[in-house]
Amino acid sequence: DTAAPLALLKDIFGYDAFRPGQGEIVDAVTDGQNVLAIMPTGGGKSLCFQLPALLRHGVTVVISPLIALMRDQVRGLREAGVAAGALTSGNTPEETDAVWDMLHAGELKLLYLAPERLANAGTQRMLSQAGVSMIAVDEAHCVSQWGHDFRPDYLRIGELRRALDVPLAAFTATADEETQVEMVTRLFDGVQPTTFLRGFDRPNIHLAFQPKDGPRAQILGFAAARRGQSGIVYCGTRNKTEGIARALRDDGHAACHYHGGMEAGDRRDVEERFATEDGLIVCATVAFGMGVDKPDIRWVAHADLPKSIEGYYQEIGRAGRDGAPAETMTLYGAEDVRLRRSQIDEGLAPPERRQADHGRLNALLGLAEALGCRRQALLAYFGEEAAPCGNCDLCDRPPELFDGTEAVRKALSAALRTGESFGAGHLIDILLGKDTDKVQQRNHDQLPTFGVGKDLSRGQWQAVFRQMMGRDLMRPDAERHGALVMTDRALPILRGEESIQLRRDAVVKAAERRPAVK
Ligand code: ADP
Ligand code: ZN
Repeated sequence: DTAAPLALLKDIFGYDAFRPGQGEIVDAVTDGQNVLAIMPTGGGKSLCFQLPALLRHGVTVVISPLIALMRDQVRGLREAGVAAGALTSGNTPEETDAVWDMLHAGELKLLYLAPERLANAGTQRMLSQAGVSMIAVDEAHCVSQWGHDFRPDYLRIGELRRALDVPLAAFTATADEETQVEMVTRLFDGVQPTTFLRGFDRPNIHLAFQPKDGPRAQILGFAAARRGQSGIVYCGTRNKTEGIARALRDDGHAACHYHGGMEAGDRRDVEERFATEDGLIVCATVAFGMGVDKPDIRWVAHADLPKSIEGYYQEIGRAGRDGAPAETMTLYGAEDVRLRRSQIDEGLAPPERRQADHGRLNALLGLAEALGCRRQALLAYFGEEAAPCGNCDLCDRPPELFDGTEAVRKALSAALRTGESFGAGHLIDILLGKDTDKVQQRNHDQLPTFGVGKDLSRGQWQAVFRQMMGRDLMRPDAERHGALVMTDRALPILRGEESIQLRRDAVVKAAERRPAVK
């Protein structure tokens, strides 16, 4: 009966229509398929298991790591007349007894379960007698051992699915492929479930990137144009959150900082203020996130490049949940690339994982140096096709492209002839034919590359190097103070087998903003 889901959608949840992707997911879950659904935060995942739970016989077990969220959902469902209950550490004994009673009486439709409950042998026994018809897993990426949100108890979910022999529907907003593979392995024994990746477009969010050029002033300028609006400034370090918040306050904004090193009470105060006050700016590390549920955040700025394209997407996605226009600006510079690369290289992850992390960083750098519509590039990464959006900086002002093959070859040559031992600054000195001390000491004025790049300014060369790093033609080597090393991707260009387009606007802009000074 195809009318049933829509009728329930209206009667129980009070919505007239499904959001993008919801309808198909609801159908597949109701049908009893194993499902992996990847939807952005705020996309409406909970409905995708709540509604099927009502359409199926028996009880649906919902596993979620967020106790407050579970309690919220249970309250909402009960108010709508749905028999729902939760077994979490926050329960009073009376609440727990009431949930057990309803379960035994076969009355419960949704049972929310904290993952740590799975470690309890009694829970498994109880569930095997309770007429469970399916398992829904929220925040399914918590099963990924390499992710930030790893929950060891999530590793027991696969076992529960096997024991109960029921379909499982897993939900997450984390879209990267590595995590997907891990979810399939651990939750579905490696058998690919029906997979949905939907609704990643947030058309009301304006996308923009800017090369770093006096980042603090850039952030202050961005905020000054949006006075009185709620915003978040994401920073790469705890120190910076405090510094930028201070600078914003000095400039007359209401601003505070937030990071993982603060007392829990202070953090809660900031969350509370942000939720209730109008026009507060929070300068934060990525620790400010999961619990932020403010619909009218008007802008998000990144003072430093995020760690990955997924991180970027999640952080900008906190803006404009109400659907009204929201703006974002992400700053990036060569130093960010160096820092992020070394964080990956110095991490404890195994080599394959590090390689994947470099890949995710590359994707973000590719987006930063995109040649066309940014949203198209972003959605393409998530597997969605889209037309140019008309709501990003590159749609606003399409970049002019030029054939950068020769410039790139000169830059590569300068690096190779100096043993791939130097950063962009010294290589640019060589290209420009500058007689610096370092050039003298190393006899680099004897190189055939010395002075071959005088047709471009220092600023233009900086943009060329940045775009080369953005396309992963060169990587800073963390073990040698960021010395630039050529990657295999650059070989075809070096050999003259491929040409490469660069963005002229970035080149000119960098040159205009910063005259040829070091
Ligand atoms: P997620 O878990 O994906 O972050 P939620 O399930 O909490 O998102 O849903 C986000 C918001 O969207 C909630 O306020 C929810 O009530 C609302 N919502 C979900 N589905 C619909 C719909 N079909 N129509 C209108 N609002 C919806
Ligand atoms: Zn666009």
